[in-house]
Amino acid sequence: MGSPIRIFVLTGAGISAESGIPVFQGTSWRGRSHDELASIDAWHANPRLVWEYYSERRRRAHDARPNPAHVALAEFQRPSTYSGFFLCTQNVDDLHEAAGTRDVVHIHGKLFESRCAADCGRPAFTDRGTYKEGDLPRCYCGALIRPNVCWFGEQPYQLDRIHDELDRCSLFFAIGTSGSVQPVSGFVAFLKGRNDPPRAIYAGLGEPANAAYFDEVHLGPASVTVGKVLASIAHSRAR
Ligand code: NAD
Ligand code: ZN
Repeated sequence: MGSPIRIFVLTGAGISAESGIPVFQGTSWRGRSHDELASIDAWHANPRLVWEYYSERRRRAHDARPNPAHVALAEFQRPSTYSGFFLCTQNVDDLHEAAGTRDVVHIHGKLFESRCAADCGRPAFTDRGTYKEGDLPRCYCGALIRPNVCWFGEQPYQLDRIHDELDRCSLFFAIGTSGSVQPVSGFVAFLKGRNDPPRAIYAGLGEPANAAYFDEVHLGPASVTVGKVLASIAHSRAR
């Protein structure tokens, strides 16, 4: 047996593309870029428009099912001890959980959760609701309710836990992420600056912006490449 690996998996919008959830790159919504809508400034300027946008994203994600890439990751985790497998996703959808992956860390929050916009102390709660014009949800405290997601201009979730896992991992596997949205795009460069840099593998449709930091780049749809990479990791681990 080889030495035990600690794998850090990072997934981006590309892993959910084949489940029918559009990526951000190169797409827009009613003529607006996603950056314009998924931002704290957009929320302050026009919460109705932001809720319409998130309502549509909820409707679309509600019908989505995990694809073979989500399933391959869930199957890979199953025989591993928990401590050897960590999955951080930039995605706000719940397709990793639907495939059976446990303890997923959503660095950008969850599409099917909402919270008080004034942070009155009420915990975030499950919410599959969609809100139309004139129908904005309000908290018990009177403030607006907002999606429990991290917008441009806000602090991502669970960074301490994520940094602990980055410090300890011996293999980094990034899937379907553009390599251009901070802080996530900087993870691989950070790892390569460690005294004992882990092997870094990328799988996705096109080269990410930070491709130079990866030891291996596997180009192709996630539904094909993820299973192949995981099989080769399992094979090298068993030797
Ligand atoms: P992005 O849209 O910027 O980039 C998508 C990446 O996926 C690209 O590199 C592209 O080459 C790749 N890709 C596209 N189709 C693919 C496929 N079938 N298989 C493999 N790879 C494929 O997304 P990003 O870099 O993840 O980050 C942008 C932000 O978008 C994130 O903050 C994330 O929260 C948000 N986002 C989330 C969802 C979701 O929850 N499903 C969807 C869209 C955007
Ligand atoms: Zn409140």
